[in-house]
Amino acid sequence: MRLMTHSPRSPRPALNRDFEQRPFWWTTMPALPDRGGRQLPDTVDVVVVGGGYTGVAAGRKLALQGARTVVLEAQTLGWGASTRNGGIAHPGFKWGPGTLRKRYGPELARALYAETVQAAELVAGLIRDQGIDAELRYNGYLELAWAPSHAAAFPGEAAGYTELGSPARAIPRAELRAEVGTDAYHGGLAVDAGGVLHPAKWFAGLVGLAERAGAELHEGVRVKALRRQADGRFVVETDRGAILAGQVLVATNGYTNGAAPAMRRRVIPIGSYMIATEPLPEDLARELSPTGRAYFDTRNFLSYWHVSADHRVLFGGRVSFFPTWVARTARLLHRRMLDVHPQLADARIEYAWGGKVALTMDRMPHIGRLGGVMYALGYSGTGLVMATWLGTRAAEWMGGGEAPALSQLRFPIVPAPYEGRPWFLPIVGEFFRAQDRLAVRGAGGGSARA
Ligand SMILES: Cc1cc2nc3c(=O)[nH]c(=O)nc-3n(C[C@H](O)[C@H](O)[C@H](O)COP(=O)(O)OP(=O)(O)OC[C@H]3O[C@@H](n4cnc5c(N)ncnc54)[C@H](O)[C@@H]3O)c2cc1C
Repeated sequence: MRLMTHSPRSPRPALNRDFEQRPFWWTTMPALPDRGGRQLPDTVDVVVVGGGYTGVAAGRKLALQGARTVVLEAQTLGWGASTRNGGIAHPGFKWGPGTLRKRYGPELARALYAETVQAAELVAGLIRDQGIDAELRYNGYLELAWAPSHAAAFPGEAAGYTELGSPARAIPRAELRAEVGTDAYHGGLAVDAGGVLHPAKWFAGLVGLAERAGAELHEGVRVKALRRQADGRFVVETDRGAILAGQVLVATNGYTNGAAPAMRRRVIPIGSYMIATEPLPEDLARELSPTGRAYFDTRNFLSYWHVSADHRVLFGGRVSFFPTWVARTARLLHRRMLDVHPQLADARIEYAWGGKVALTMDRMPHIGRLGGVMYALGYSGTGLVMATWLGTRAAEWMGGGEAPALSQLRFPIVPAPYEGRPWFLPIVGEFFRAQDRLAVRGAGGGSARA
């Protein structure tokens, strides 16, 4: 690879066309045994719908608690967002400490944030204690200000995070280069908590833990409907027959469908997309990421990225609220990546892919029961550690343990009638885009970060 600096006046280099349209992570994920076609039981204690982090973590914990549990995955285990994501594993929500306190009061805000710290520790603890090779590097993360007003809020946010136990500091624009190889942002918020990992290797490790604990994992089984009987048990109708279950957990996040209509009314499935460069020379990788943090910015149409263990830039973003295709999103992401890191003008893109996240109206994850059915979903794009955590906490709650703090939040309905196809997304997208533009001009606009 020849290095070249792309100046804003020179035309942007075109994206090479020979990239593969599949997640880079899948190329280095340990092969999982085929779990399709296994015989399904007639009766179990718990059926878990969805085989991503949430479902598999719940299956593991339920089995450890002694419950006969089946996890049913319509495709293959991990086929959803859990093996496609950006690998950024950090505590916290979309909202910073100030907004959390304003919305929920100091006590609940503290309890909510504490759960996310525990979530990041749970994932790191399992990886370290169980000897899972998941390329875990907890070097913290850096949030980057898309607009001057966002940077102005960082000192207050830093104090808030520090007070909550995650040491943080605001980085002025002039000092950003010590943290990230770009001049594209107005300032940074460095938080020394969490970091990055290989999401698919972590998922494969979690599957191993669940199976060793005794959870029964099934692939290629689509749940079609859930019916509650007079005795309180559930008939779980699948495309391979019915299962009688004492309890049910819906763990389908961005892929939630008609099998769980009450949950579908509360989440908006939306695409998030990624590209992966070829491995970069070591000195360039160090220039881009001197401290090895995870990065994301404060836009509604956010970008997020990090440098992987093998020195690739893994660059993702929410580039479209319209139905779209990977070849197009790869072009948009490539352009964005060069705006942030012109040093990558000659770096080839080797992989491009997408997956679905689940936005909620309050951008918070949710756990609770609707019609007796337990759910844990709505991670709004930050579910890597929270999905493992809420799957585990849902299992504990179903087994008679304490309810998590997040269960105190009301789970708002999406205020637009829709059955499956969220027709209103382009309108929401235009609204967010306008907010991003206004923020840069200093005329308001939040950092709501969809
Ligand atoms: C491109 C991308 C980048 C991301 N980056 C990050 C990041 O850097 N950091 C972060 O914290 N989060 C990130 N996320 C979000 C994170 O990946 C998710 O929040 C998390 O994986 C959710 O896990 P889950 O198990 O709840 O859902 P999923 O992993 O999506 O699994 C849900 C599963 O349910 C199955 N299913 C649906 N309906 C049925 C049915 N009726 N019957 C049986 N099975 C069914 C689906 O097939 C799917 O496999 C990203 C997501 C994407 C798409």
